[in-house]
Amino acid sequence: MEPGATAAQIGTVILTIQKFGGTPHTLHNDNRTVIAGIGLSEAIEPGMFTKMVGVERVSGIHQPYKLASREIKTESTVINVEGAAIGGETVIIIAGPCSVESRQQLLETAWAVKEAGAKILRGGAFKPRTSPYSFQGLGLKGLELLAEAREATGLPVITEAMTPEMVPLVAEYADILQIGARNMQNYGLLHAVGRIQKPVMLKRGMMSDVQELLMAAEYILSGGNYQVMLCERGIRTFNKMTRNTFDLAVIPLLKQLTHLPVIADPSHATGRWDLIAPMSRAAIAAGADGLMVEVHPRPEEALSDGPQSLKPERFARMMTSLQQVAQAVGRSL
Ligand code: PEP
Ligand code: MN
Repeated sequence: MEPGATAAQIGTVILTIQKFGGTPHTLHNDNRTVIAGIGLSEAIEPGMFTKMVGVERVSGIHQPYKLASREIKTESTVINVEGAAIGGETVIIIAGPCSVESRQQLLETAWAVKEAGAKILRGGAFKPRTSPYSFQGLGLKGLELLAEAREATGLPVITEAMTPEMVPLVAEYADILQIGARNMQNYGLLHAVGRIQKPVMLKRGMMSDVQELLMAAEYILSGGNYQVMLCERGIRTFNKMTRNTFDLAVIPLLKQLTHLPVIADPSHATGRWDLIAPMSRAAIAAGADGLMVEVHPRPEEALSDGPQSLKPERFARMMTSLQQVAQAVGRSL
Protein backbone atom coordinates (compact mmCIF):
# COMPACT_ATOMS: atom_id res chain seq x y z
CA MET A 1 0.00 0.00 0.00
CA GLU A 2 1.05 3.62 -0.43
CA PRO A 3 2.64 5.13 2.71
CA GLY A 4 -0.51 7.10 3.56
CA ALA A 5 -3.07 4.40 2.72
CA THR A 6 -6.18 4.64 4.90
CA ALA A 7 -7.66 1.86 7.02
CA ALA A 8 -10.62 1.75 4.64
CA GLN A 9 -8.35 1.28 1.59
CA ILE A 10 -6.45 -1.47 3.39
CA GLY A 11 -9.76 -3.05 4.41
CA THR A 12 -10.96 -3.14 0.81
CA VAL A 13 -7.84 -5.00 -0.32
CA ILE A 14 -8.22 -7.48 2.54
CA LEU A 15 -11.88 -8.11 1.69
CA THR A 16 -11.04 -8.63 -1.98
CA ILE A 17 -8.34 -11.18 -1.10
CA GLN A 18 -10.88 -13.06 1.02
CA LYS A 19 -13.50 -12.86 -1.71
CA PHE A 20 -11.14 -14.64 -4.08
CA GLY A 21 -10.37 -17.44 -1.66
CA GLY A 22 -7.11 -16.06 -0.28
CA THR A 23 -5.90 -15.55 3.26
CA PRO A 24 -4.70 -11.99 3.92
CA HIS A 25 -1.64 -11.37 6.08
CA THR A 26 -0.85 -7.77 7.01
CA LEU A 27 2.81 -6.91 7.58
CA HIS A 28 4.71 -3.65 7.97
CA ASN A 29 7.75 -2.72 5.92
CA ASP A 30 9.51 0.52 5.09
CA ASN A 31 6.66 2.67 6.52
CA ARG A 32 4.12 0.83 4.46
CA THR A 33 1.47 -1.76 5.04
CA VAL A 34 2.14 -4.85 2.95
CA ILE A 35 -0.76 -7.21 2.43
CA ALA A 36 0.06 -10.75 1.38
CA GLY A 37 -2.77 -12.62 -0.27
CA ILE A 38 -1.87 -16.28 0.10
CA GLY A 39 -3.77 -18.91 -1.88
CA LEU A 40 -5.72 -16.60 -4.17
CA SER A 41 -7.86 -18.31 -6.80
CA GLU A 42 -6.30 -18.56 -10.26
CA ALA A 43 -9.31 -16.65 -11.56
CA ILE A 44 -8.07 -13.40 -10.07
CA GLU A 45 -6.43 -10.78 -12.29
CA PRO A 46 -3.49 -9.14 -10.51
CA GLY A 47 -4.35 -5.95 -12.43
CA MET A 48 -7.46 -5.70 -10.36
CA PHE A 49 -5.49 -4.76 -7.25
CA THR A 50 -3.34 -2.28 -9.19
CA LYS A 51 -6.43 -0.20 -9.88
CA MET A 52 -7.52 -0.01 -6.26
CA VAL A 53 -7.08 3.29 -4.43
CA GLY A 54 -4.18 3.29 -1.97
CA VAL A 55 -2.36 0.41 -3.67
CA GLU A 56 1.22 1.30 -4.57
CA ARG A 57 2.43 -1.88 -6.21
CA VAL A 58 1.37 -5.47 -6.84
CA SER A 59 3.86 -8.30 -7.18
CA GLY A 60 4.03 -12.05 -6.89
CA ILE A 61 6.03 -13.79 -4.18
CA HIS A 62 8.20 -16.34 -5.92
CA GLN A 63 9.65 -18.22 -2.98
CA PRO A 64 7.59 -21.08 -1.55
CA TYR A 65 8.27 -19.66 1.94
CA LYS A 66 6.21 -16.56 1.32
CA LEU A 67 5.69 -14.81 4.64
CA ALA A 68 9.22 -15.70 5.76
CA SER A 69 10.79 -14.32 2.60
CA ARG A 70 12.68 -11.04 2.21
CA GLU A 71 10.67 -10.63 -0.98
CA ILE A 72 7.64 -9.63 1.04
CA LYS A 73 9.44 -7.86 3.85
CA THR A 74 12.84 -6.33 3.15
CA GLU A 75 13.22 -4.98 6.69
CA SER A 76 14.53 -7.35 9.35
CA THR A 77 11.95 -8.42 11.90
CA VAL A 78 12.67 -7.37 15.46
CA ILE A 79 11.03 -9.41 18.21
CA ASN A 80 10.71 -7.63 21.53
CA VAL A 81 10.92 -9.83 24.58
CA GLU A 82 10.79 -7.89 27.83
CA GLY A 83 13.29 -5.25 26.73
CA ALA A 84 15.44 -7.54 24.57
CA ALA A 85 15.06 -6.61 20.89
CA ILE A 86 15.92 -9.81 19.02
CA GLY A 87 16.95 -9.00 15.45
CA GLY A 88 18.03 -5.46 16.30
CA GLU A 89 21.49 -3.98 16.58
CA THR A 90 22.29 -5.73 19.85
CA VAL A 91 23.29 -9.39 19.73
CA ILE A 92 21.06 -11.11 22.29
CA ILE A 93 22.59 -13.81 24.45
CA ILE A 94 20.34 -16.56 25.75
CA ALA A 95 21.99 -18.72 28.39
CA GLY A 96 21.16 -21.25 31.07
CA PRO A 97 21.20 -24.94 31.78
CA CYS A 98 20.18 -27.60 29.31
CA SER A 99 17.62 -28.87 31.84
CA VAL A 100 16.08 -27.31 34.89
CA GLU A 101 17.25 -29.68 37.61
CA SER A 102 16.56 -27.90 40.91
CA ARG A 103 15.78 -24.48 42.36
CA GLN A 104 19.36 -24.07 43.51
CA GLN A 105 20.87 -25.07 40.15
CA LEU A 106 18.54 -22.83 38.15
CA LEU A 107 18.78 -19.74 40.34
CA GLU A 108 22.54 -19.99 40.68
CA THR A 109 22.88 -20.22 36.90
CA ALA A 110 20.31 -17.51 36.22
CA TRP A 111 22.07 -14.94 38.44
CA ALA A 112 25.47 -15.84 36.99
CA VAL A 113 24.42 -15.51 33.35
CA LYS A 114 22.58 -12.29 34.08
CA GLU A 115 25.65 -10.87 35.76
CA ALA A 116 27.72 -11.78 32.69
CA GLY A 117 25.30 -10.00 30.34
CA ALA A 118 22.82 -12.62 29.14
CA LYS A 119 19.40 -11.13 28.35
CA ILE A 120 17.29 -14.30 28.34
CA LEU A 121 17.36 -17.42 30.51
CA ARG A 122 17.03 -20.86 28.95
CA GLY A 123 16.13 -24.13 30.67
CA GLY A 124 14.35 -27.27 29.55
CA ALA A 125 11.41 -28.50 31.63
CA PHE A 126 10.20 -31.05 29.09
CA LYS A 127 13.22 -32.69 27.50
CA PRO A 128 13.26 -34.48 24.14
CA ARG A 129 15.86 -37.15 25.02
CA THR A 130 17.19 -39.75 22.60
CA SER A 131 16.71 -42.45 25.24
CA PRO A 132 13.46 -42.96 27.18
CA TYR A 133 15.64 -43.94 30.15
CA SER A 134 17.45 -40.58 30.27
CA PHE A 135 16.27 -37.70 32.47
CA GLN A 136 13.07 -36.38 30.89
CA GLY A 137 12.92 -33.03 32.68
CA LEU A 138 11.00 -31.84 35.75
CA GLY A 139 7.88 -31.03 33.70
CA LEU A 140 5.46 -28.64 35.39
CA LYS A 141 7.81 -28.27 38.37
CA GLY A 142 10.48 -27.11 35.91
CA LEU A 143 8.13 -24.48 34.48
CA GLU A 144 7.37 -23.25 37.99
CA LEU A 145 11.07 -22.94 38.77
CA LEU A 146 11.59 -20.99 35.54
CA ALA A 147 8.81 -18.62 36.61
CA GLU A 148 10.53 -18.22 39.97
CA ALA A 149 13.90 -17.49 38.35
CA ARG A 150 12.22 -14.99 36.03
CA GLU A 151 10.58 -13.27 38.97
CA ALA A 152 13.83 -13.16 40.95
CA THR A 153 16.22 -12.05 38.20
CA GLY A 154 13.90 -10.23 35.79
CA LEU A 155 15.24 -12.35 32.91
CA PRO A 156 12.60 -13.53 30.43
CA VAL A 157 12.67 -17.28 29.83
CA ILE A 158 12.68 -19.67 26.89
CA THR A 159 11.67 -23.31 27.22
CA GLU A 160 10.60 -26.13 24.93
CA ALA A 161 7.11 -27.41 24.14
CA MET A 162 7.13 -30.91 22.69
CA THR A 163 3.48 -31.55 21.82
CA PRO A 164 0.56 -29.43 20.58
CA GLU A 165 -1.36 -30.24 23.79
CA MET A 166 1.50 -28.83 25.84
CA VAL A 167 1.55 -25.45 24.08
CA PRO A 168 -1.05 -23.56 26.21
CA LEU A 169 0.63 -24.66 29.45
CA VAL A 170 4.17 -23.80 28.30
CA ALA A 171 2.92 -20.47 26.89
CA GLU A 172 1.62 -19.54 30.36
CA TYR A 173 5.16 -19.70 31.74
CA ALA A 174 7.51 -19.00 28.83
CA ASP A 175 8.32 -15.69 27.17
CA ILE A 176 9.61 -17.60 24.13
CA LEU A 177 8.52 -21.12 23.18
CA GLN A 178 11.20 -23.37 21.78
CA ILE A 179 10.54 -25.94 19.09
CA GLY A 180 13.36 -28.47 19.27
CA ALA A 181 15.35 -29.85 16.36
CA ARG A 182 13.55 -33.19 16.60
CA ASN A 183 10.20 -31.44 16.23
CA MET A 184 11.01 -29.03 13.41
CA GLN A 185 8.66 -30.91 11.12
CA ASN A 186 6.03 -31.80 13.72
CA TYR A 187 3.30 -30.03 11.80
CA GLY A 188 0.66 -30.41 14.52
CA LEU A 189 3.03 -28.62 16.90
CA LEU A 190 3.85 -25.93 14.31
CA HIS A 191 0.12 -25.32 13.80
CA ALA A 192 -0.36 -25.05 17.56
CA VAL A 193 2.37 -22.42 18.03
CA GLY A 194 1.09 -20.61 14.93
CA ARG A 195 -2.16 -19.95 16.75
CA ILE A 196 -0.66 -18.26 19.81
CA GLN A 197 0.69 -14.73 20.04
CA LYS A 198 4.03 -15.44 21.70
CA PRO A 199 7.54 -15.50 20.24
CA VAL A 200 8.71 -18.90 19.01
CA MET A 201 12.26 -20.09 18.42
CA LEU A 202 12.32 -22.78 15.77
CA LYS A 203 15.43 -24.97 15.78
CA ARG A 204 16.70 -26.47 12.57
CA GLY A 205 16.24 -30.21 12.37
CA MET A 206 19.52 -32.11 12.47
CA MET A 207 18.80 -33.52 9.02
CA SER A 208 16.87 -30.63 7.53
CA ASP A 209 17.98 -28.31 4.78
CA VAL A 210 17.49 -24.55 4.74
CA GLN A 211 14.36 -24.62 2.61
CA GLU A 212 12.75 -27.15 4.96
CA LEU A 213 13.57 -24.90 7.90
CA LEU A 214 11.99 -21.91 6.16
CA MET A 215 8.92 -23.94 5.21
CA ALA A 216 8.56 -25.03 8.84
CA ALA A 217 8.71 -21.35 9.87
CA GLU A 218 6.09 -20.65 7.23
CA TYR A 219 3.67 -23.01 9.03
CA ILE A 220 3.91 -20.83 12.13
CA LEU A 221 3.71 -17.53 10.23
CA SER A 222 0.77 -18.67 8.10
CA GLY A 223 -1.13 -19.42 11.31
CA GLY A 224 -0.90 -15.70 12.15
CA ASN A 225 2.01 -15.77 14.60
CA TYR A 226 4.67 -13.53 13.04
CA GLN A 227 7.08 -13.62 16.00
CA VAL A 228 9.34 -16.40 14.80
CA MET A 229 13.13 -16.68 15.13
CA LEU A 230 15.25 -19.41 13.59
CA CYS A 231 18.07 -21.33 15.24
CA GLU A 232 21.03 -23.08 13.64
CA ARG A 233 22.10 -25.84 16.04
CA GLY A 234 24.29 -28.04 13.88
CA ILE A 235 23.51 -30.88 11.52
CA ARG A 236 24.50 -34.52 11.16
CA THR A 237 27.61 -35.23 9.13
CA PHE A 238 30.21 -38.02 9.08
CA ASN A 239 32.39 -36.18 11.60
CA LYS A 240 32.24 -37.99 14.92
CA MET A 241 34.58 -35.71 16.86
CA THR A 242 31.87 -33.12 17.38
CA ARG A 243 28.26 -33.90 18.31
CA ASN A 244 26.99 -32.14 15.18
CA THR A 245 28.55 -29.98 12.47
CA PHE A 246 27.96 -26.29 12.96
CA ASP A 247 26.65 -25.07 9.58
CA LEU A 248 28.05 -21.57 9.86
CA ALA A 249 27.34 -20.46 6.29
CA VAL A 250 23.65 -20.92 6.92
CA ILE A 251 23.66 -17.85 9.18
CA PRO A 252 24.46 -15.26 6.45
CA LEU A 253 22.42 -17.31 3.98
CA LEU A 254 19.32 -17.16 6.16
CA LYS A 255 19.88 -13.44 6.73
CA GLN A 256 19.69 -13.00 2.94
CA LEU A 257 16.64 -15.18 2.42
CA THR A 258 14.49 -14.21 5.37
CA HIS A 259 13.67 -11.19 7.51
CA LEU A 260 13.34 -13.41 10.61
CA PRO A 261 16.01 -13.19 13.34
CA VAL A 262 18.67 -15.91 13.31
CA ILE A 263 20.09 -17.38 16.51
CA ALA A 264 23.08 -19.74 16.73
CA ASP A 265 23.39 -22.56 19.26
CA PRO A 266 27.08 -23.48 19.48
CA SER A 267 26.39 -25.83 22.42
CA HIS A 268 24.33 -28.43 20.54
CA ALA A 269 26.24 -27.67 17.32
CA THR A 270 29.54 -28.85 18.80
CA GLY A 271 28.71 -30.83 21.96
CA ARG A 272 32.01 -29.67 23.51
CA TRP A 273 32.44 -26.88 26.02
CA ASP A 274 35.93 -26.08 24.74
CA LEU A 275 34.57 -25.17 21.29
CA ILE A 276 31.74 -22.89 22.47
CA ALA A 277 33.71 -19.63 22.71
CA PRO A 278 35.38 -19.82 19.27
CA MET A 279 32.13 -20.90 17.61
CA SER A 280 30.21 -18.15 19.39
CA ARG A 281 32.67 -15.59 18.04
CA ALA A 282 32.33 -17.09 14.57
CA ALA A 283 28.52 -16.97 14.73
CA ILE A 284 28.50 -13.29 15.69
CA ALA A 285 31.03 -12.49 12.98
CA ALA A 286 28.78 -14.32 10.50
CA GLY A 287 25.81 -12.13 11.40
CA ALA A 288 23.85 -14.05 14.04
CA ASP A 289 21.27 -11.94 15.89
CA GLY A 290 21.78 -13.95 19.03
CA LEU A 291 23.33 -16.98 20.66
CA MET A 292 21.90 -19.69 22.85
CA VAL A 293 24.52 -21.16 25.16
CA GLU A 294 24.25 -23.88 27.81
CA VAL A 295 25.72 -22.99 31.21
CA HIS A 296 25.78 -25.19 34.32
CA PRO A 297 27.40 -24.43 37.70
CA ARG A 298 28.72 -28.01 37.92
CA PRO A 299 28.77 -29.51 34.41
CA GLU A 300 30.11 -32.84 35.72
CA GLU A 301 26.88 -33.26 37.70
CA ALA A 302 24.51 -32.11 34.93
CA LEU A 303 21.56 -34.41 34.21
CA SER A 304 21.84 -33.57 30.51
CA ASP A 305 24.47 -32.12 28.19
CA GLY A 306 27.20 -31.63 30.82
CA PRO A 307 30.04 -32.05 28.27
CA GLN A 308 28.84 -29.03 26.29
CA SER A 309 27.97 -26.83 29.27
CA LEU A 310 30.15 -23.89 30.25
CA LYS A 311 30.88 -23.11 33.87
CA PRO A 312 29.63 -19.63 34.81
CA GLU A 313 33.14 -18.15 35.04
CA ARG A 314 34.05 -19.45 31.58
CA PHE A 315 30.80 -18.07 30.23
CA ALA A 316 31.61 -14.66 31.72
CA ARG A 317 35.06 -14.68 30.15
CA MET A 318 33.61 -15.63 26.79
CA MET A 319 31.10 -12.77 26.98
CA THR A 320 33.94 -10.25 27.25
CA SER A 321 35.60 -11.61 24.12
CA LEU A 322 32.30 -11.55 22.21
CA GLN A 323 31.99 -7.82 22.72
CA GLN A 324 34.98 -7.11 20.50
CA VAL A 325 33.67 -9.33 17.72
CA ALA A 326 30.23 -7.74 17.91
CA GLN A 327 31.80 -4.30 17.62
CA ALA A 328 33.88 -5.37 14.63
CA VAL A 329 30.70 -6.21 12.72
CA GLY A 330 28.81 -3.09 13.78
CA ARG A 331 26.81 -4.67 16.57
CA SER A 332 26.77 -4.39 20.33
CA LEU A 333 26.29 -7.02 23.00
C1 PEP B 1 17.72 -27.84 23.63
O1 PEP B 1 18.02 -26.72 23.19
O2 PEP B 1 17.42 -28.03 24.79
C2 PEP B 1 17.67 -28.98 22.71
C3 PEP B 1 17.14 -30.14 23.09
O3 PEP B 1 18.24 -28.75 21.51
P1 PEP B 1 17.96 -29.45 20.09
O4 PEP B 1 16.47 -29.51 19.92
O5 PEP B 1 18.63 -28.52 19.13
O6 PEP B 1 18.60 -30.78 20.14
MN1 MN C 1 20.88 -29.47 25.73
